[in-house]
Amino acid sequence: MSNVEADPAEVTCASTPGGVEVLEPRDVPLGGPRAMSVRRTLPQKQRSLIGAWCFCDHYGPDSVHMDVAPHPHTGLQTVSWLFSGEIEHRDSLGVHAFVRPGELNLMTGGRGIAHSEVSTEASSVLHGVQLWLALPDAHRDAPRDFQHYAPPTVAVSGASVRVFLGSLAGSTSPVRTFTPLLGAEIVLPAGASLSLEVASGFEHGVLVDTGDVTVEGTALRAGSLGYAGTGRSSLTLSSQDGARVVLLGGEPFGEEIVMWWNFVGRTHDEIVAYRDEWEIETERFGRVEGYPGSRLPAPPLPGGRLRPRGNPA
Ligand code: MN
Repeated sequence: MSNVEADPAEVTCASTPGGVEVLEPRDVPLGGPRAMSVRRTLPQKQRSLIGAWCFCDHYGPDSVHMDVAPHPHTGLQTVSWLFSGEIEHRDSLGVHAFVRPGELNLMTGGRGIAHSEVSTEASSVLHGVQLWLALPDAHRDAPRDFQHYAPPTVAVSGASVRVFLGSLAGSTSPVRTFTPLLGAEIVLPAGASLSLEVASGFEHGVLVDTGDVTVEGTALRAGSLGYAGTGRSSLTLSSQDGARVVLLGGEPFGEEIVMWWNFVGRTHDEIVAYRDEWEIETERFGRVEGYPGSRLPAPPLPGGRLRPRGNPA
């Protein structure tokens, strides 16, 4: 997906000392003639990253047609995870793949990649998340890559868990990442309560897709993201009426990043250079074959210098 937000707003979020911080989503229109709107919980003013997770867009269920023309990425990996629908992916590595519910598609756009995403005819209702992972400095020029993985469903205290990145509940994803990470979908039936063993060096985020969920005693509404800091060896989730959540985790990233449009870099000047290279079509991003249309032009840079994002220590 491409970030085509025109006018980012700042939001506030509630915080409980030592408890779970509730990050509320803001609606972001993605533009275009048949515009879809997403609910963005990362980044926001108070929190830019959870582990290396630096971008969290949640969308649907909507009967919309997604058509995102070829656009570039740097310094990140994109994670596509669908609950329903189907998206056709094409990239400048030459990959032509279909994103389907319950299957991870992880694209690496370190030094530079371009891709397009179009929902298919089979996709009457689109519902899912689009997540980005910042690459650590040592690997942020990593070559283009694309990994696909359909995790098994494991049962934990009546809940169904699918681990697409990292390890949880005895299930380990074989997908390679550049920092220690966790990504899982958890479906809780009504009345479920489960305690998950987690790495105490990780911070975690629980994105509520549908239903109601209580995380470590804090109630979360659908669409919100509950943040739990490091130092916990377990996470307790419960639901009265049933819920589906996406659990994200990772070691605190520890580096400041500069994010603008679809680029992750370290400095303003670097982002300006990436933008210039996309506009003059250098080999950095390559070409997407098979997309029936033209590529997305980069939006104009904002006035002033782009500032780095990090997290409060
Ligand atoms: Mn994209």
